Amino acid sequence: MRGDLFDRMISLVFPRGCVLCGATVAFDDLVCSRCVPDRSQEGLCLFCGKAHYSCRCREDQWAFEGAAAALYYREETRRALLQLKKLPDRRIARYLAGEMYLCQHREFPGVPFDVITEVPMHPQKLEQRGFNQAELLAGQLAVLGGIFHRMRLLTCSGSAESQHTLGRKERFAAAHDRYSLGGDVREKTVLLVDDVFTTGATAQACAACLMGGGAREVYILTAAVTPLLATLP
Ligand SMILES: [Zn+2]
Ligand SMILES: [Zn+2]
Repeated sequence: MRGDLFDRMISLVFPRGCVLCGATVAFDDLVCSRCVPDRSQEGLCLFCGKAHYSCRCREDQWAFEGAAAALYYREETRRALLQLKKLPDRRIARYLAGEMYLCQHREFPGVPFDVITEVPMHPQKLEQRGFNQAELLAGQLAVLGGIFHRMRLLTCSGSAESQHTLGRKERFAAAHDRYSLGGDVREKTVLLVDDVFTTGATAQACAACLMGGGAREVYILTAAVTPLLATLP
C-alpha cells in the first residue's frame, strides 16, 4: 500500500505516460484514450486457430487442460513486453496482468484456481537480468484475482542457451526434463503464467512437471501470442 501511495505522489510531480504510446495520462491510468489493447480473438485454440469446439488439439495429449493468451504479440504489445524484459516496470506489468485477468475469466470461466505460478527463468539468465518478467506478471495477476501466488514453484536447469534458434521439434525435446518441481501441488488446480506463448514447448514441459507432481489440472495463461500461431490452418 505504501508503494501505491508513493507511486501516486511521484506521478503528481512527474506525469506518467501511457504504457503503450507514452502520451501523458491521468495519474491512475495505464493506457491513454487513443490506445486500444490488441486483444486476441475470443475462444480460439492457440495451436490450430479453430474455435475450441471444433479443435482436436486436446487429443494431442497436452499436459495442460487449457491455454490462452490475452493479446497479440505485435506492435505496441510487443514493445511493452520487450520493455518489461529490460526493466521490472510495475505499470507495464499491471497493464498486462489486467488484460490477462480479463482473458482468464473469458477463457477459463469458473475454474477454481488454487495457485498461480510462473514459468521459471534459467538461474544464469535470472542473475544477468535480475528479475523474471513472468514472475512479475504472475504476482500482479494473483493480486487482481485474489489467488495465492506460489513463486518459484518450478525451477529451470540444463543449458542456459536460448531456444529461439531451435526448430519446433528440437524445442520440445530441449524443454523436456528442463524443469523440476519444488513444492506440493497435489490436488491443486494451477494457473501457469508466462509472457509470450510460442510453440507451446515450455508450457507443455512445465505442465507435465506439475501434473507429474499430482496437480489436478494445469492451465496456461500468457500475456501474448503470435497471431500467426493462433491462425495457422
Ligand atoms: Zn497511448
Ligand atoms: Zn486446436
